[in-house]
Amino acid sequence: MCIFCKIVEGELPSNKIDENDDFLAFNDLYPKAPIHVLIIPKAHVECFQDVNPTVMAGLTTFTQQIAKKLGLDKSGYRLITNNGDDGAQEVKHLHFHLLGGGKLNWTHQHDESHKNM
Ligand code: AMP
Repeated sequence: MCIFCKIVEGELPSNKIDENDDFLAFNDLYPKAPIHVLIIPKAHVECFQDVNPTVMAGLTTFTQQIAKKLGLDKSGYRLITNNGDDGAQEVKHLHFHLLGGGKLNWTHQHDESHKNM
């Protein structure tokens, strides 16, 4: 069983923000922003590439509710999913990183730095 499935099952601890029958939001263990929450489907799906549109529809609504609950709906936030090895996905259970709580840096295409990835 993967570590996020263990969190869903209660076999590993997590700092829960909210949940319903299908989805769970909990704080990232190593936050990269003042607010850094992971949002997952409870049923194991490896990555975004494998998820079906019905699950994504529910995940969208749940994510919007979490953003509102955290007071990010008006101030703004970033939503990221890393997909597969080149996407630097470490945990192979679909998750969206919800980042906010302050102005986030972003490197735009017109900057030279993106060439270094
Ligand atoms: P990714 O690189 O997109 O797969 O991100 C995995 C994320 O899971 C990282 O941001 C980790 O800090 C986070 N993480 C790993 N283990 C745990 C855990 N037990 N509880 C909360 N977050 C975790």
